[in-house]
Amino acid sequence: MKYIDPHIHMISRTTDDYQRMAYAQCAAISEPAFWAGFDRGSAAGFHDYFRHLTEFEPRRAAQFGIKHYSWLCINAKEAENVSLSREVISMIPEFLSRPGVLGIGEIGLNKNTANEATIFQEHLDLAAKTDELILIHTPHLEDKYKGTRMIVDMLKGDSRIKPHRVCIDHVEEHTVKLALDNGFWCGMTLYPVTKCTPARACDIIELVGTDRIMANSAGDWGKSDPLAVPELIQEMKRRGHKEADIKKVVYDNPLSFWRQANNWKE
Ligand SMILES: [Zn+2]
Repeated sequence: MKYIDPHIHMISRTTDDYQRMAYAQCAAISEPAFWAGFDRGSAAGFHDYFRHLTEFEPRRAAQFGIKHYSWLCINAKEAENVSLSREVISMIPEFLSRPGVLGIGEIGLNKNTANEATIFQEHLDLAAKTDELILIHTPHLEDKYKGTRMIVDMLKGDSRIKPHRVCIDHVEEHTVKLALDNGFWCGMTLYPVTKCTPARACDIIELVGTDRIMANSAGDWGKSDPLAVPELIQEMKRRGHKEADIKKVVYDNPLSFWRQANNWKE
């Protein structure tokens, strides 16, 4: 089945991974700006990173017939440095009209600190002024519920933010309804063993249904599987879910969300 991986960090993956994803019928991916394996020392490092996301990766993906889209921001981990963050945010507008850029992301919280919250809100301000889509990283493990709650409160506190133009990522059983009940889209990030596995993601779909929900692999610097979305397809098939429902989660939903992007081209 053709699928989309709407959140995968290809900067940390090899070209062989692109090949395996193509064999598994990956049609398109989006790569949010995140931590790139080390803390960058200057805004110039982010400038190069944004060029990597918008120039190099789309070309590498195209060799395998995979469409590559991207999101731009300074991630929550490096947002602890407020002055660096402000320099990076001021540089984002020059990249927003580049082909394949879907919006601002993945912004969010990591350790739920005051600095992270300040920079999250400054990204929201930029997204509101430029009417960009927003992709949100929620913290992992014990910080997740509190962080997701803080994020939803900040989103609802800014009346310019339209929930249908926001996707809250890395949801789990205890946070999925915070996203959906407030009108946002949500993403489940599938990890091989820890956090949300393909089986848990399938349980979540059985709890909340298939509207405004998608699944991704993260494919980041930690242990992760770039073929996690096909794993979810297998799990849903095994449990007898209808083909149309599976396709909605792994293909139609991410596409419907992306199609709202200012810059959208099929
Ligand atoms: Zn990520």
